[in-house]
Amino acid sequence: MDFELNDEQRLFRDTLRDFVDREIRPVAQEWEATDRYPTEIVETMKDLGLFGLTVPEEYGGLGVDMVSFALVFEEISKGWMGIAGILGSHSLACWTIARHGTEEQKRRFLPDLAAGRRRTGIGLTEPGAGTDLQGITTTARRDGDHYVIDGRKTWITNARHAGMLPVLVKTDPAASPAHRGMSVLLVEDGFEVLRDLPKLGYKGTESCEIVFDGVRVPAANLLGGTEGRGLQQVLSGLETGRINIAARSLGIAQAAYDEALKYAAQREAFGHPIHDFQAIQLKLAEMAIKVQASRLLVYWAASQADAGNRIDMQAGMAKTFASEAAIECALTSMQVHGGYGYSKEFVVERLYRDAPLMSIGEGTNDIMRTVIAKALTSGKETIG
Ligand SMILES: Cc1cc2nc3c(=O)[nH]c(=O)nc-3n(C[C@H](O)[C@H](O)[C@H](O)COP(=O)(O)OP(=O)(O)OC[C@H]3O[C@@H](n4cnc5c(N)ncnc54)[C@H](O)[C@@H]3O)c2cc1C
Repeated sequence: MDFELNDEQRLFRDTLRDFVDREIRPVAQEWEATDRYPTEIVETMKDLGLFGLTVPEEYGGLGVDMVSFALVFEEISKGWMGIAGILGSHSLACWTIARHGTEEQKRRFLPDLAAGRRRTGIGLTEPGAGTDLQGITTTARRDGDHYVIDGRKTWITNARHAGMLPVLVKTDPAASPAHRGMSVLLVEDGFEVLRDLPKLGYKGTESCEIVFDGVRVPAANLLGGTEGRGLQQVLSGLETGRINIAARSLGIAQAAYDEALKYAAQREAFGHPIHDFQAIQLKLAEMAIKVQASRLLVYWAASQADAGNRIDMQAGMAKTFASEAAIECALTSMQVHGGYGYSKEFVVERLYRDAPLMSIGEGTNDIMRTVIAKALTSGKETIG
């Protein structure tokens, strides 16, 4: 049993920490408050190769192991979770294309995506269907050597910056079961961004409603070249996506703890630093336990993926526990800060607004619990 990072992973983590300390932390409060797009940070992420995290080396990417992938999202989210959003669905889309794309699609799209010359996201959710993806109504009708897409997607991260977007559609709306008629099309242009959705947190990264009104896409852009595999293609990528969200949660929880520890040493009441009071000590200990337990689950799940195992249950456990820990730690840290915790001038207020998304994105925690239960009751997985 080895709980340590290897030398390469440690070096990678140190590079990320340095980047976050130099370029993200100093601007996070101000840029988040004004919802400014972090263009300069994106440029450095390109230089660091971070847009190619899940792109195999032969297509110009870093092709990192899953533990290193988690490190990226943890470290960035310690500084500002919104920035991790820019990489999250981009990485998921790259992973899905690398895994399911035809050779021609991989050669055409992956090198530009890896370099960040082209950016992407993932278009699944619709106004009427999120968890229930088989309930989507966006259709793609075949017309000669093209498909024609009509429909609407919502909450699409990175939509304004996407030079290409994998979109889940129904190529056969009458199919039963519905997933047999679902496909992914790699849409390069033609969709319209209707609006940016106003949000509690997760600023910096845009989340948009987009519309497809007779958008023509070459048939050569059907992911994998065969209709009817779309749902399975996108669901296979969610394991990776859930590690990303679990690691972001860990970053938020760690930041909440760090802020509380620092504040409790500085703030005095009744002639003592407040960390002398047992009530504060209990809160710090509780946070530290949750952060550390989250870390173990996140890196355990990531290591299981690196060992070549399916990780539906493991990623689900890590995502559920870590996201709930992030929410609890953000609130506890706010309480440790007293009135200042409620002020926009303190980091913890942002953590408190960013944390809840972690229990929704890449499958809600209710769904995570059903995934975990299914794995256990079917006998596919055991614990203990
Ligand atoms: C900031 C943000 C960014 C996002 N980015 C993207 C993106 O880039 N691309 C994208 O495609 N989507 C994106 N999403 C959408 C996100 O994936 C969905 O919001 C999420 O999957 C939940 O779907 P829903 O909102 O439709 O909720 P619903 O599916 O309507 O769920 C509502 C409630 O019902 C519960 N529920 C539903 N079905 C069941 C069931 N069978 N059993 C038990 N409980 C159930 C859910 O747990 C939840 O509590 C984003 C969302 C947000 C908020």
